[in-house]
Amino acid sequence: MTTLAIDAHPKAGERPTPATKTALQDHRWPPRVGLHPGLVLTLYLVLALAPVAIAAAHPLPPRPFWDEVASALGLSALAIMCLEFMLSGRYRSVSGRIGIDLTMRFHQLVALSLVGFMLVHPFVYSTPMGHALPWDTDAHLRLGLDTWSIATGAVAWGLLVVLVATAIGRRLLPYRYESWRGAHAIGAVLVTGLVAHHALAAGRYSAQPAMIVFWGALLTLAGMTLIYVYIIRSIQQKRAPYAVHSVESVAADTWELRLKARDGAGTHGTLRFQPGQFAWVKIGPHPFRVREHPFSISTAPEQTPEIGFTIRENGDFTRHIGEIPPGTPAYLDGPHGNFVPDAEEIPTVYIAGGVGIAPMLSHLRAFRTEGDRRPITLIYGNRTVDYIASKAELDQMAQHLNLKVHYVLQEPPEDWDGPAGMITQDVLDACLPRESRRVARYFICGPGPMIDAVDRELRNLDVPAHRIISEKFDYT
Ligand SMILES: Cc1cc2nc3c(=O)[nH]c(=O)nc-3n(C[C@H](O)[C@H](O)[C@H](O)COP(=O)(O)OP(=O)(O)OC[C@H]3O[C@@H](n4cnc5c(N)ncnc54)[C@H](O)[C@@H]3O)c2cc1C
Repeated sequence: MTTLAIDAHPKAGERPTPATKTALQDHRWPPRVGLHPGLVLTLYLVLALAPVAIAAAHPLPPRPFWDEVASALGLSALAIMCLEFMLSGRYRSVSGRIGIDLTMRFHQLVALSLVGFMLVHPFVYSTPMGHALPWDTDAHLRLGLDTWSIATGAVAWGLLVVLVATAIGRRLLPYRYESWRGAHAIGAVLVTGLVAHHALAAGRYSAQPAMIVFWGALLTLAGMTLIYVYIIRSIQQKRAPYAVHSVESVAADTWELRLKARDGAGTHGTLRFQPGQFAWVKIGPHPFRVREHPFSISTAPEQTPEIGFTIRENGDFTRHIGEIPPGTPAYLDGPHGNFVPDAEEIPTVYIAGGVGIAPMLSHLRAFRTEGDRRPITLIYGNRTVDYIASKAELDQMAQHLNLKVHYVLQEPPEDWDGPAGMITQDVLDACLPRESRRVARYFICGPGPMIDAVDRELRNLDVPAHRIISEKFDYT
């Protein structure tokens, strides 16, 4: 076990009084938009269960209990399928307050339930599957499926399994992320279309007028999401163009890409964001392209019309960041995300792994511009000293902010006197100020496994879960 003796926060005596107001509360930065998470969940449940309620309200002759269960599963499955489009549509009204990270996790969790519903749906019926009998007008003797409705149901059933399995095992597939994403979108449209046909052609309840209106509305909303994501949003981006201003190396394999609003006016067309939010970035001559990448904004809102991103080489797009010439057109979709600082000047702890420092740079740069005096501890892990992004600036910020920086190196040089290895519980225990441990706000960003480990270790150190905010750079 490593024993560390680190001065946790030498400036503790100089802390400002708690809850000192900062410019964050002056609304100089835009307020976060989005519906309350409780309202989003309620709306979601209402829409997912609405077809079951509409079906229950229909005065059709009763059928065996399990037939009704099977129908309810099928009806909810189609509603959930349509809602999946809206969850992944990056609507700020939906994910603005919840965060895209959590919204995407919900999308994935729901997809698993969907597979469950769809898999059991055909096997729960007790009524025979056969063709409708002429005198059985409300299909309680036979399910009344014709050849087409059986075919669309069966193909959708198999395709949905493939769709979810390829999403879970995406990294094992020999395809680029963009190819998978395109195939996933096309597959989702196909499955939804097939299920809609199956429900309308074979469904006992879906053939009722009220249900036809409901399905029409929900399918239109799902279709409009696609039009919004792939066409309308691109048109909006075309009206607010950016250009690459500079690309500079800030550490090994790490670049700071700076964009500038092309009209140069500073407000028109410039993203209005809070420190720590992120945007999807498209680089190229026009915004009508599928290829885009999410990056945290690492500059402060006050630095607009320049907007910067700290980017680590990771794959086929990021490997070429350093080669992008100034003047190249760029387009942004954002701001998104909830990795934003508290308005009050409360003790704040940042724990970053590698390029996870990017959104924290945005916070620190904003604090510096604002003259914010909150007590800050930054624990920043990297493989070697060469990978510490913007080190000179961080060291300089430690002079101006109420900031204590602890670099943690996995492969330290011989003369290194800081913590070595991973960011373990011992490292955290040694670096975190004791007196504010339970009340500080904690931000964690870095590789997924690191975030999970640090989250666990913080809780072992008695940090309440609700004080921790984390951002994963991967939705897998
Ligand atoms: C919210 C968020 C913020 C991020 N912020 C930063 C940052 O500030 N700095 C930084 O260096 N990296 C950041 N990333 C990670 C960055 O988006 C990926 O490293 C980058 O997109 C990889 O692209 P590539 O073509 O180089 O590599 P690829 O080999 O194509 O992709 C590597 C992995 O990156 C992810 N990825 C790629 N494209 C997308 C996409 N369009 N949408 C979602 N995930 C994608 C996938 O998991 C993929 O497996 C962030 C990711 C997220 C989700």
